[in-house]
Amino acid sequence: MNITEQLAVTAQSQPEKTAYVFEDKQTSYMELERSVQKFASSLTGMGLKKGDHIALVVGNSPYYVIGLYGALRLGAVVIPINPLYMANEMNYILNDGDVKAVITMDVLLEKFAAIHEQLPGVRNYISCDSGAGSSSLEDHILGPKLHSFTDLVQAGSPGWNPAEWKDDETAIILYTSGTTGKPKGAMLTHRNIYSNAKDVADYLAINGEDRVIAALPMFHVFCLTVALNAPLMNGGTVLILPKFSPSEVFRIAKDHQATVFAGVPTMYNYLLQSGESQGEFANIRLCISGGAAMPVSLLEAFEETFDVQISEGYGLSEASPVTCFNPLDRPRKAGSIGQSILNVENKVVDEFGEELPIGEVGELAVTGPNVMKGYYNLPDETASALKDGWLYTGDMARMDEEGYFYIVDRKKELILVGGYNVYPREVEEVLYAHPNVSEAAVIGVPHPEAGEAVMAFVVSDDSSVTADELAGYCRQHLIGYKVPSEIEFLDELPKNTTGKILRKNLRDQVKQ
Ligand code: AMP
Repeated sequence: MNITEQLAVTAQSQPEKTAYVFEDKQTSYMELERSVQKFASSLTGMGLKKGDHIALVVGNSPYYVIGLYGALRLGAVVIPINPLYMANEMNYILNDGDVKAVITMDVLLEKFAAIHEQLPGVRNYISCDSGAGSSSLEDHILGPKLHSFTDLVQAGSPGWNPAEWKDDETAIILYTSGTTGKPKGAMLTHRNIYSNAKDVADYLAINGEDRVIAALPMFHVFCLTVALNAPLMNGGTVLILPKFSPSEVFRIAKDHQATVFAGVPTMYNYLLQSGESQGEFANIRLCISGGAAMPVSLLEAFEETFDVQISEGYGLSEASPVTCFNPLDRPRKAGSIGQSILNVENKVVDEFGEELPIGEVGELAVTGPNVMKGYYNLPDETASALKDGWLYTGDMARMDEEGYFYIVDRKKELILVGGYNVYPREVEEVLYAHPNVSEAAVIGVPHPEAGEAVMAFVVSDDSSVTADELAGYCRQHLIGYKVPSEIEFLDELPKNTTGKILRKNLRDQVKQ
């Protein structure tokens, strides 16, 4: 099976079941399946074929779902891209990824009209209709290459035969955000994508009764696997939100009796700050956190307010993404990313790749059917990330005697203060535990004697809190060299569109 074949099977077995809800309109599995077939047949009609690369530059919507499953049905390779990327970022990925067709939205056509001459390989633009329409200038520039998504779905033929495919053929290329250098395209095969959605669903018992809120951006692999593919694979319902806002999450949770919510820690923070109480999440049986470290104080406050358990997990684009989760049938450990999920193995290794004893900190390495084939057109980068079938994650971790893993921090984020190791996360955890700190990020800054010093950026809900007070609080909980020597207050911390806090932007800010 791959995920698009699985959809066809589910549409046969439960045609009337709701596959997704968008703007309060329900769409059944059979309706989705028909749109997927027709869209795939129209793509073939345009000359696209198995193996062609198609970029999906679309916000959370039915277009995203039909575009993804339709292109995969054809045997094409899908490259999801953040619609908010600037023209130059888009340009890089479209050229590097050898993209032949772009599925996008009419509101973004201006961006493509501006760079289309630098994209000789792109033969077609398919525009999803947001109601804004394309301008005559864009029509003129993109002219014969421009097609309407809705027209393609209407014109396609329903009885269309899907392409043959193999397990190890690339299905999706994900360009990883990467803290340094250019983005790299992680090639995920049909087997990678299918197995991870299935193994996560089995591990977290996501089934046909579940209604999962998809408020994370679908171009990000966390949403793609956990909130989209996993429920669709099991006949569940995806509650699609175009974008995250606490009021919309609570509304959709209530109106459609949502049972699962998936988010990054900053989303949990916003939900908590909204002042709502448990009634709003009455039907939610499981909250899933991933993508970044969940501060223990936030996890505890959220669970108490909403009377629901958060299961934190961990993953990365290169592993499709999930490798670990806190189990449902065994104790949940706050601050831990849980145990290896089914079929996936994690280990902590030293710099020579030797497995370290329990409790020691080293790099987390992972193997399993979810691990990528490699980076697109980058054999050297692939060889340094994949060794003997193990993916080296670049994250430092330790494991306890019960096989629960703890992420210490990213290898690259380590701060060296006079030769001592400081992992930003440890300092951030202390700051988050202060009653008036709602967000915190810690970075290393150059220091004439110590090499580096610890600097903290903090968002506080109380303007009377001072840097001295916070430093004093840190001193009670941390050894001296880990205490921030500088603390700056900000109205908000820089975040990417997935909601991950960007320490890199803070470092750039300090450099300037
Ligand atoms: P991405 O490939 O964009 O999904 O980013 C993956 C990275 O996010 C990982 O390598 C980790 O550094 C980070 N990450 C994901 N989940 C967690 C978690 N639960 N705790 C700490 N870091 C995480």
